Amino acid sequence: MGVRGTTSVGALQLRFWGVRGSHPVPGKSTLRFGGNSSCVAVEADGQVLAFDAGTGLIGLGRLLLQRPGKSVVHIFLSHLHHDHIEGLRYFEPVYRDDWRVYLYGPGSSPATVENTLRRSMDQRLFPVALAELQARLSIRTLPKREVVRIPGARNLTVHAQFSRAHPKVGVMLFRIEYRGRSVVYATDVEGPKGGHADVVAFARNADVLIHDSQYTDHEYFAAQRNKAGWGHSTVRMAAEIAREAKVGRLLLYHHDPSHDDKEVLHLERLARSIFTNSQAAFEGLTLKLRAR
Ligand SMILES: [Zn+2]
Ligand SMILES: [Zn+2]
Repeated sequence: MGVRGTTSVGALQLRFWGVRGSHPVPGKSTLRFGGNSSCVAVEADGQVLAFDAGTGLIGLGRLLLQRPGKSVVHIFLSHLHHDHIEGLRYFEPVYRDDWRVYLYGPGSSPATVENTLRRSMDQRLFPVALAELQARLSIRTLPKREVVRIPGARNLTVHAQFSRAHPKVGVMLFRIEYRGRSVVYATDVEGPKGGHADVVAFARNADVLIHDSQYTDHEYFAAQRNKAGWGHSTVRMAAEIAREAKVGRLLLYHHDPSHDDKEVLHLERLARSIFTNSQAAFEGLTLKLRAR
């Protein structure tokens, strides 16, 4: 038996736990795609990795506690905006002293991630301090570029690369590699037409590209009150980047909270007209990539 959550040998498995950007959206109008904020779980080589700690992470935490096996999880934060960390405080494994939780994210100093998480749990904001969490935490601020090795996993690596494609603080892109398979996680990136060159190069030939696709063309390009410069892509930009990078499959991600299921379906059709193998990610979507 491997680490909790490891269900398949020789495959990389993805599961979407939260696909929404900015803030959660519960309610009837989002039942099909889901309302939780960003979180994707990856299982491979006997390990569980989570990408971002939006409210989707809370459900993953409950599942992990139900499973037998070792108690280790690695959480990669694309950046520290609220919608990417708000689930961490309710992630049950951090309250268990038999759990080990690794956290990685970008920052300007070696202590950025730890300091920011500590501040997010200041006693005026939350009743439990970071130092009071029972799990064994290892918190690392990643440099601009790094290949992260996962202890105990021989064939699994996570390439992290910092990008300026998000305003002010930038964002970390992640590329997960496992036995000839690759998945790129690129959320909260904004690209001009044709895409940011660094994102395209980073995603080149990946089997799966999970890409920010928050806005419609109208929202982004409207003459007034448009969303250009807010750090997110349109669906069209995401599809063009997928085509340019020659990925196998595009998953539209970080859906705008104002988009109901009908709107997301409409945007999925638009993406397919540009890049055929496109799909709007939904909560519960699971993909399995067999190792080569
Ligand atoms: Zn976000
Ligand atoms: Zn952000």
